[in-house]
Amino acid sequence: MRVSVALFTADLRTHDNPVLVAALRDAERVVPLFVVDTGVRGTGFVVPNRAAFLADSLADLDGALRARGGRLVVRVGDVVEETCRVAAETGAGEVHIAAGVSRYAARREDRLRAELAGDRRALRVHEASVTAVPPGALTPAGKDHFAVFTPYFRRWESFAVRGVLPAPDAVFVPDVRSAGLPRAGSLAPGPASPGLPAGGESEARRRLRSWLAGPLSAYDDRHDDLAADATSRLSAHLHFGCLSPTELLHRARAQDNPGAHAFVRQLAWRDFHHQVLAARPDAADHDYRPRHDRWRHAPEETEAWREGRTGYPLVDAALRQLRHEGWMPGRARLLVASFLVKTLYVDWRVGARHFLDLLVDGDIANNQLNWQWVAGTGTDTRPNRVLNPLVQARRFDPRGEYVRRWLPELSGLDARTIHRVPLLDAADRAGLDYPAPVVDLAAAAARFREGRSPG
Ligand SMILES: Cc1cc2nc3c(=O)[nH]c(=O)nc-3n(C[C@H](O)[C@H](O)[C@H](O)COP(=O)(O)OP(=O)(O)OC[C@H]3O[C@@H](n4cnc5c(N)ncnc54)[C@H](O)[C@@H]3O)c2cc1C
Repeated sequence: MRVSVALFTADLRTHDNPVLVAALRDAERVVPLFVVDTGVRGTGFVVPNRAAFLADSLADLDGALRARGGRLVVRVGDVVEETCRVAAETGAGEVHIAAGVSRYAARREDRLRAELAGDRRALRVHEASVTAVPPGALTPAGKDHFAVFTPYFRRWESFAVRGVLPAPDAVFVPDVRSAGLPRAGSLAPGPASPGLPAGGESEARRRLRSWLAGPLSAYDDRHDDLAADATSRLSAHLHFGCLSPTELLHRARAQDNPGAHAFVRQLAWRDFHHQVLAARPDAADHDYRPRHDRWRHAPEETEAWREGRTGYPLVDAALRQLRHEGWMPGRARLLVASFLVKTLYVDWRVGARHFLDLLVDGDIANNQLNWQWVAGTGTDTRPNRVLNPLVQARRFDPRGEYVRRWLPELSGLDARTIHRVPLLDAADRAGLDYPAPVVDLAAAAARFREGRSPG
């Protein structure tokens, strides 16, 4: 009897899963395996918010496999050792895995290939599982990746994306030992954010259906309206692979309207950052394009930023939402990131770390490369642009609703006053339980210009 292993990583789903489909096609029995990888834990990447989402997602995946006659097999330890052990115990000839883009994923793949080969077993790596367009599938002449989004997007739009694969009807699992499903607390100690969304493929598909049924068509008009909360909130489901980017792309494209077009462009940004990281894994912690910045060490201002008490209401509202939900909208991410790296002129790595500590969708490709984009050390074509938090507030929260939602201490202020709080003098702010601004914007802009231009 032929046995194979489907090793789940960032593809915790049964629908449109190339790894699962290929493993089932090649064998009569399949081990759907997830390894609670002690190596990932050692990197500091596993934090309470993502641990909670992961625990939900694994429980849901186990349920989906049981509904098909199977179950999820869980092991705890080094992912390579445990996978090889399971393969040996079950006599599996092949291990299937989704291609990853991070340094960690590349090393895992190399080690798995070598160890399995030593045991005369094969590793089968499946592209277009974590992204819709595989990294490396599109390259400009003479280069190994695109460094600018617009030409990438032009090629990406006409790429022949593979079709959507059906979820299997039945999964037959050989007799093999499994640890229990992990609980969030055993993956990462500490409390998760109180407003954290639930994880898992069932929840992802529910959210997908409601997104496609209505809000998607208004995405182009409304995605930057902070109070409207009019984005898909699918990022964490994409990060954990509870939802396939390929399926999402096909289903969004099926709606030929401006909202869907704008949304598809965002999915291209996701693939874009993944192809950059795959080609330049060191961009996770090194400047992609060094600008010789003389970053400031500003522990008190940085702490005020982390806690959402910078004295700039829109910045603070966004950072408090991050703490409460483990998520914030893209427009808010741009603003708070710009505030840290350009206004406070603090190293983007400090901000990226804080995001990774809290974001439920925290992702090396999207997080580190978006931070670099904002810092001007990445792929942004306007590296010295600075976002003014007062101007941004008027544009993206004109009625002050978003700020009122997250800063109860300012909830009594009207739309005109609420964003002008940093401009009030000491006497006018006396009755407010809200900090004075940590920085003067004009002085900060001058400091940034001076710091960035060497000499
Ligand atoms: C400083 C900074 C840090 C970020 N960190 C992360 C992160 O760790 N993980 C993450 O998934 N996204 C990150 N993003 C990108 C983006 O902000 C989020 O993906 C998006 O806000 C998630 O909300 P949504 O699912 O409602 O997005 P929607 O607006 O509904 O967009 C749909 C999907 O497109 C993708 N997408 C949208 N914008 C971007 C973008 N700029 N780059 C890459 N993909 C994008 C996401 O997968 C998203 O789920 C970051 C952006 C910035 C500016």
